Amino acid sequence: MAPARAAEALPVLRERGQREVFCGLTGIIWLHRKVQDAFFLVVGSRTCAHLLQSAAGVMVFAEPRFGTAIIEERDLAGLADANEELDKVVRQLLARRPEIKLLFLVGSCPSEVIKLDLGRAAQRLNGSYPGVKILNYSGSGIETTFTQGEDACLAALVPEMREDAVDQLLIVGALPDVVEDQFRRLFADLGIARVETLPPRRAKDLPGIGTGTRFLLAQPFLGDTARMLETRGARHLPAMFPFGAEGTTAWLHAAATEFGIDEMHFRSVVAPGRERAKRALAHHAARLNGKSIFFMPDSQLEVPLARFLANELGMTLVEVGTPYLHRSHLADDLAALPAGVQISEGQDVDKQLDRVRAAKPDLTVCGLGLANPLEREGFSTKWAIELVFSPVHGFEQAGDLAELFARPLVRRDRLTV
Ligand code: SF4
Repeated sequence: MAPARAAEALPVLRERGQREVFCGLTGIIWLHRKVQDAFFLVVGSRTCAHLLQSAAGVMVFAEPRFGTAIIEERDLAGLADANEELDKVVRQLLARRPEIKLLFLVGSCPSEVIKLDLGRAAQRLNGSYPGVKILNYSGSGIETTFTQGEDACLAALVPEMREDAVDQLLIVGALPDVVEDQFRRLFADLGIARVETLPPRRAKDLPGIGTGTRFLLAQPFLGDTARMLETRGARHLPAMFPFGAEGTTAWLHAAATEFGIDEMHFRSVVAPGRERAKRALAHHAARLNGKSIFFMPDSQLEVPLARFLANELGMTLVEVGTPYLHRSHLADDLAALPAGVQISEGQDVDKQLDRVRAAKPDLTVCGLGLANPLEREGFSTKWAIELVFSPVHGFEQAGDLAELFARPLVRRDRLTV
């Protein structure tokens, strides 16, 4: 069966109950490091400011490229003109930080509650600051999960991409620079002449887009961005996500096939990296093989990671929960999962915790809020958010990715000796 057909046929447990996830503001933590002349101005409450500050830590050597324009209680009560306040904050910020070339006004639960229209605010402010692009997106926690912040941010960039019909490969998703450079080298060695990235490292390098653009998703949580790119004429290249030796090979192969790269040349280019990845994985397979794992829905990376852990490291999948299941983007990974695996979409947290307790998995991947209570009950856990913060894509990171799952088991073994 074709991957897309096989993915459609999979039975999925759908749950719509209480959820335990971070909001989309979290994406700022990795996005502000990636786009070096961007600033993320959250229009939110002190709670939003605390979330960012505690999750991102304090930048000792550089001024942070994110901040919060606090909506005070009087704003919430409609007593002050929040727009005027916002204009003032933007004016002060841009006067003090001339290096900012791209300013995101990031919506939050409070800005949505008072119906502050940040789209109109961005439009209003845009003409006033030559050389600075002002855009907006929502990072609110109302009905979202934390990786949707990146999706919303990248989707906001798509209308800004100039029309360009040139043949090119676009890598979509914020990857650490070191990983992005590795992929660029591989594509250059394969002979794909023009490779661009979204997001770019600098605002001025935002690539063009048109009917010659084919794109690979580096992350499985970019559904809105992909849709926007398609409306601009770009074409998605379906593939497994680049985790582990197999996933990375398949991902690179999708581009090589599309760009007419000779199969023998493809194999010779990827062979050294693929072998290094396999050797690194063999090192961890002894510890992970046969161990059971339960994914609670959090990062949206769950399906490709489950495929990697089951097929490349021999782990047993108890349940693969994901906040949202994008069947067509995940089709190749879903089709490669072992037969009969339980997939769930959405969450009813108490029911799911009961299933964890009944199954007693060796490892549970979950959000920070659930990890400590589960550890107290004797379960080994892995924070899902760490998988988004760490360099985990590609051949050279395959061993590190396996180690992220092996480490909690090693720690548990040490504690029980
Ligand atoms: S956006 Fe909403 S969920 Fe996120 S920190 Fe602010 S108030 Fe909390």
